[in-house]
Amino acid sequence: MQSSIPRVMAACVAWCSLLFAASAHSQDYDLVILNGRVMDPESGLDAVRNIGVKSGKVLDITATQIRGKETIDATGHVVAPGFIDLHAHGQDPYAIKLMLRDGVTTPLEIEAGAWPVEDYYNEREGKSQANYGASVGHVWARISAMDNINPKGLGLYSDAINAAAHEGSKWSTQRSSPEQLKKIGAKVEQGLRQGGLGIGFPVGYYTAVGGPEVMDVASLANRYDTFITTHVRYLSNIPPSGYMALEELLAVASTNQVPLIVHHLPSNLLELTPQGLYLVDKARRNGLKIAAEFYPYTSGSSIIGADYLGPGFQQRTGMEYEDIVYVKTGEKMTKELLAKYRKEDPGGMMIMHHIKEKDMLAAFVWEGVFVGSDGVPFLDDKGQVPTWDAPYGAGKGHPRGAGTHAKVLRTVREQRVVSLMEAIAKLSYLQAKFLEDMVPDMKHRGRLKPGAIADITIFDPATVTDNAGWEEGKNSLPSTGIPYVIVNGTVVVKDSKVLKGVYPGQPIRNDVLD
Ligand SMILES: [Zn+2]
Repeated sequence: MQSSIPRVMAACVAWCSLLFAASAHSQDYDLVILNGRVMDPESGLDAVRNIGVKSGKVLDITATQIRGKETIDATGHVVAPGFIDLHAHGQDPYAIKLMLRDGVTTPLEIEAGAWPVEDYYNEREGKSQANYGASVGHVWARISAMDNINPKGLGLYSDAINAAAHEGSKWSTQRSSPEQLKKIGAKVEQGLRQGGLGIGFPVGYYTAVGGPEVMDVASLANRYDTFITTHVRYLSNIPPSGYMALEELLAVASTNQVPLIVHHLPSNLLELTPQGLYLVDKARRNGLKIAAEFYPYTSGSSIIGADYLGPGFQQRTGMEYEDIVYVKTGEKMTKELLAKYRKEDPGGMMIMHHIKEKDMLAAFVWEGVFVGSDGVPFLDDKGQVPTWDAPYGAGKGHPRGAGTHAKVLRTVREQRVVSLMEAIAKLSYLQAKFLEDMVPDMKHRGRLKPGAIADITIFDPATVTDNAGWEEGKNSLPSTGIPYVIVNGTVVVKDSKVLKGVYPGQPIRNDVLD
């Protein structure tokens, strides 16, 4: 008896290890992605591997054969961390569907932000195809405090802007009184306590803000251990310039010792973009945590009532009237039309051709500068946001909301401005790395490694392309060459189709909660 035990054990060791090995490599995974070129900007891994996903996480990245309940053959494709876009104003289902086709798993609204923040998160719980999150929008807190208008969660480009642009509204034309400032601060603080990601200061839309307001409210970011972001004021090459506006926000960030994200730097600094990029680098070398962002287009889009389109914009921006297009009608502006639409529909969308190619490319290749689409909601013929089922192409607006990320990959293939690995870092890892100290969830996104959350984008490097363009009917055409997108371990784009009714999106929040 005794002598048989070691034999049984020996047999068991052999069999059990075989059994164990077999089970670890068979049906244990929920999803396996086979034979793809796995690229991870954090570790530098760039090799053909198989990925095993279980319970929403990457369990293994291996050269050995594995099997799972669901299989994707990624032969000839790059398997990358899901793209993270910190600048996605289009938060409706149609806009998110286009983002997914463009490889984005985490489209966040952190430039304009939301308020009340709780409403933003509640509206999306269990109903979002991609991950979601928003900063606390200082602009909405300001509108609420100074004009007593409720922006109802996410307000940008919605009726709130038109409502808040009525004759006599104060939010964009007046400094806050000490009482109003107190109210604004309390509202922003409430948003931070509800999980808002940082504080968004798009001061370019309310240049009347002066005095201590931005400096004071930004101090809340320090107290809540979070960051601030900005669309700087003064769209101008001449004083007061966008460069000076960047200096202002650098002073706000460094005085309060809070990290800063500078959105669409070329779009604001225009000809002063290279100097602005040097300034960002210098501030970083001197210890400020700061990041700059760009989108790969030479045109911007925003509301036609924006104060930088006020008298004298030609001299400040180098644009003429015909460089500004009113989205609803496609009309190029004249002096009369611009005045009319600024008065009648100040929240209406416009597109402006205002960035030089060389300035956009300077930001594209600059080390550490990441991609943010600034995608705005598309509008249909009636000026409404299209429903999820609306056909591709039905939405009108700036094509960046549909094609930014694939356009970056296409540009890298055609012009080799940066390496493919650098491009993937600019599309995912750099954003996660910037946020991870403040938003712990981001430690596990933007990478492909065991333990990472399985947000994964699979694209064909030889064919991936944007298709959204400026021609009528093409503004909201989806990108192609990105056949699979996985959000939190769930396939949501399959064979280049967004799956209806699949809602794997999770909230991304600041971890300071009530
Ligand atoms: Zn902006």
